[in-house]
Amino acid sequence: MPTHLWMQEEHHAFGDSVRRFFEDEFQPHRDQWKDDGHVPKSFWEKSAEIGILGATVPEEYGGLGLSRHFDAVTFLEQAKIGDSGWGFSVHNIATHYVTGFGTEQQKQKWLPKLASGEMVAAIAMTEPGTGSDLQAVKTTAIKDGNEYLINGSKTFITNGGSADLIVLVAKTDPTSRSKGVSLIMIETEGLDGFSVGRKLDKMGMKRNDTAELSFQDVRVPQTNLLGDEEGQGFYQLMKQLPWERLILGYSALGAAQCALDTTLDYVRERKAFGQRIMDFQNSRFKLAEAATKIELLAAFLDQCLAELDQGLLTPEKAAMAKWWGTQAQCDIIDECLQLHGGYGYMNEYLISELYTDARVQKIYGGTNEIMKELIARSLDKD
Ligand SMILES: Cc1cc2nc3c(=O)[nH]c(=O)nc-3n(C[C@H](O)[C@H](O)[C@H](O)COP(=O)(O)OP(=O)(O)OC[C@H]3O[C@@H](n4cnc5c(N)ncnc54)[C@H](O)[C@@H]3O)c2cc1C
Repeated sequence: MPTHLWMQEEHHAFGDSVRRFFEDEFQPHRDQWKDDGHVPKSFWEKSAEIGILGATVPEEYGGLGLSRHFDAVTFLEQAKIGDSGWGFSVHNIATHYVTGFGTEQQKQKWLPKLASGEMVAAIAMTEPGTGSDLQAVKTTAIKDGNEYLINGSKTFITNGGSADLIVLVAKTDPTSRSKGVSLIMIETEGLDGFSVGRKLDKMGMKRNDTAELSFQDVRVPQTNLLGDEEGQGFYQLMKQLPWERLILGYSALGAAQCALDTTLDYVRERKAFGQRIMDFQNSRFKLAEAATKIELLAAFLDQCLAELDQGLLTPEKAAMAKWWGTQAQCDIIDECLQLHGGYGYMNEYLISELYTDARVQKIYGGTNEIMKELIARSLDKD
């Protein structure tokens, strides 16, 4: 298990209470919520009570005003219990958009509700016709009097069915690419013209309501433009991406650790040819390789987190954390599943859930191919 040198007594104490929270409030319901396809609103609210949702929200807006390290603690703990369905990461990123770019009025309006779980958040970028090429989004938000008139559709939206507040990526100037993009905040309750489409049937992450969203002549006040200037959306997205990618790295790390732990329990018990699966040299080498990769990933992520703190984390380094971390996660989980034999393929074993949940990590948050493209671009400069 990696030692995170940045973790002080207060991080360990926070981690202990987050772990107890998951044990008491999540574990008893994990199968039910998988069948339901979402976690209930009460779970969001309870997580807020122990400070998970508002850890990094400034105190004057109802949060605890702590550093991002506390969010990293939560991502690690959530992953370590083998869950990636609860959409806390997206809620957290959305909250950081408001903190980072919102006007004073917007911060006062939304941050307390995001910190208390009264509002669940989603981020809607991807459209049926475009994912990786974000500048090509077709959803429009056109100024009309003191309102925006919004038309378009989004797909694959995490928390899409339960979101009260959506950070919508739309074109305020459809004739431009990146400079035409703005972020519009959508309060969904009773909003005419807004509808949630089918809840998508996914390979994994069964506890998340990943949904399609439709906007047909939706009207929101002009004050719902995030920040005070149109055309800033692409810049705002790019500013937040290093944190988003680091989060994916930490969740990859936690999931890999969870896979290793559950596999160690299994191979110490299971026997073949009169000995424990653990005693075969191949098993020992595979487990040693997994443990080594976990340590390497932890060391790199912690270095990236320290750089983020100092404002030094570059987009290409965050991209390395995302692609290498999620690739390592998938490789480790695949090897761990193999050590379970046929039982690894059975849904009643945790390793099977870890396997199907992991696959999407290489796709969302920017695909791993796009990550490598970003890194390569940074190498191809004078
Ligand atoms: C479970 C789940 C949850 C999601 N949650 C959200 C969410 O909350 N909000 C949201 O907005 N989106 C979300 N997404 C969408 C996700 O971010 C996109 O699926 C992803 O960005 C890829 O876009 P795409 O699916 O359109 O693939 P495409 O862009 O069509 O890519 C297809 C393939 O082509 C490759 N490719 C594309 N362009 C290049 C290039 N320039 N160079 C090399 N290869 C390239 C890609 O790497 C990929 O392998 C989610 C997706 C899933 C599956």
